[in-house]
Amino acid sequence: MGREKIVVIDFGGQYNQLVARRVRECNVYCEIYSYKTDMEKIREMEPKGIILTGGPNSVYEEGAPSCGRELFELGVPVLGLCYGAQLMSHVLGGHVCKAPVREYGRIEVTVDQSSRLFGDVSEKTICWMSHNDYIEKPAPGFRVIAHTADCPVAAAEWAERGLYAIQFHPEVLHTQEGSKMLHNFVYEICGCAGDWRMDSFVETSIRAIREKVGSGKVLCALSGGVDSSVAAVMLAKAVGDQLTCVFVDHGLLRKNEGDEVEEVFGPNGPYDLHFIRVNAQERFYGKLKGVEEPERKRKIIGEEFIRVFEEESKKIGKVDFLVQGTIYPDVVESGLGGESAVIKSHHNVGGLPDYVDFKEIIEPLRELFKDEVRKAGLELGIPEKLVYRQPFPGPGLGIRIVGEVTAEKVKMVQDADAIYREEIAAAGLPHTPDQYFAALTNMRSVGVMGDERTYDYAVALRAVNTVDFMTAEASQIPWEVLQRVTSRIVNEVAHVNRVLYDITSKPPGTVEFE
Ligand code: GLN
Repeated sequence: MGREKIVVIDFGGQYNQLVARRVRECNVYCEIYSYKTDMEKIREMEPKGIILTGGPNSVYEEGAPSCGRELFELGVPVLGLCYGAQLMSHVLGGHVCKAPVREYGRIEVTVDQSSRLFGDVSEKTICWMSHNDYIEKPAPGFRVIAHTADCPVAAAEWAERGLYAIQFHPEVLHTQEGSKMLHNFVYEICGCAGDWRMDSFVETSIRAIREKVGSGKVLCALSGGVDSSVAAVMLAKAVGDQLTCVFVDHGLLRKNEGDEVEEVFGPNGPYDLHFIRVNAQERFYGKLKGVEEPERKRKIIGEEFIRVFEEESKKIGKVDFLVQGTIYPDVVESGLGGESAVIKSHHNVGGLPDYVDFKEIIEPLRELFKDEVRKAGLELGIPEKLVYRQPFPGPGLGIRIVGEVTAEKVKMVQDADAIYREEIAAAGLPHTPDQYFAALTNMRSVGVMGDERTYDYAVALRAVNTVDFMTAEASQIPWEVLQRVTSRIVNEVAHVNRVLYDITSKPPGTVEFE
């Protein structure tokens, strides 16, 4: 206890996690809960403030997600966003109905700068709107503090009660002064002190882990990804050589990646832990022989991974704790947090590996968003190269090779990908694509090299810009850069005679190429 907290109540809006992230960027901790959460539970958390998110429903519909009047009578400031604003108005006796004019996208809003919510915000400010309904009449006690050309109540407040309703979305970056508004809410209105910082988080976590583990033995599966690396270092700092890290090299990692992981965690690295690297390349290639279907490949790689890990951990004998790199979005998306519950189940949560004999699970990153995990990693002194590693699927290159996986193909895609990454880094682009990689297509075609006919593979280059990986668009990499990459790949990578650039967006494509 003791840590101040904002509670975000989720009504199914698509930006629920963004709301929480923006609040945390203000150095205030917050958590997301479904609107179905018991009022008693919320009261017990003693939140400094409550934020109600947007949502797809209309508040006046039968069965629409709702909340009791008591929520507004806890004596805790409440900020309603879009659906949340409409709900606050509806529950407290205002009138919400279908808007004569729907607003969608960037809209100029005129705000009343005398409101504490808009302190320091420009009188005319661009905000992101997305609504069909509107607050026709605010609830009694409220005064209007913002409007647009088509929306008479773009925001309303009952300042004495700490109640604020805003029709637009401050959490979305298109709302130019949205962070300032959230900042005003948590500091000026809720009176937060801002005690959520990664340095103190890391310190407190290390202390708590040390206490919990005592003299117990801890086991961690390292994948080389950001989450498991940060979790492992945290454990290493907390309990040193009581920790064993098992790193399964499935032979489907990016070029040199296995060695990079070993450099950090191995015997010559800075940490005092037991490091076991299992070179299981041949074993994985063997299992993947002749398999072309991507889902089957994923399954085989996942299962084999567990099997190898299991064999290794059996050699260690009984362990007391197993470390998992679960992060907050995993928790929210598997329904333990917010409202997007039903959408997907996540491999990291719930699916405890029952094949290892252990007492308890430790999830040191369970409360963190990805950007916070990276910050924690830097605090822990993990090399930037590892901390800022691009997202990489668990099945690795196995799913960046279309069709059958072989050792030769892995080598081709590793080399092509390394060239691509080198050249992108060297190009010093104003914005590095959020994710980019080379994949190997299953297409062979005729080419000519040194006057000789070739019949070789085509590499596909992918690069996307995205905010959240839910949607993405192809990056417009400068032509010269693509040319340089292409010429190096066809020259340096044997059995590749063609390079294609994928400009498909997601949807309908995916970011990965399998
Ligand atoms: N469904 C409500 C509307 O259309 C709220 C939308 C939202 O929260 N983005 O107005």
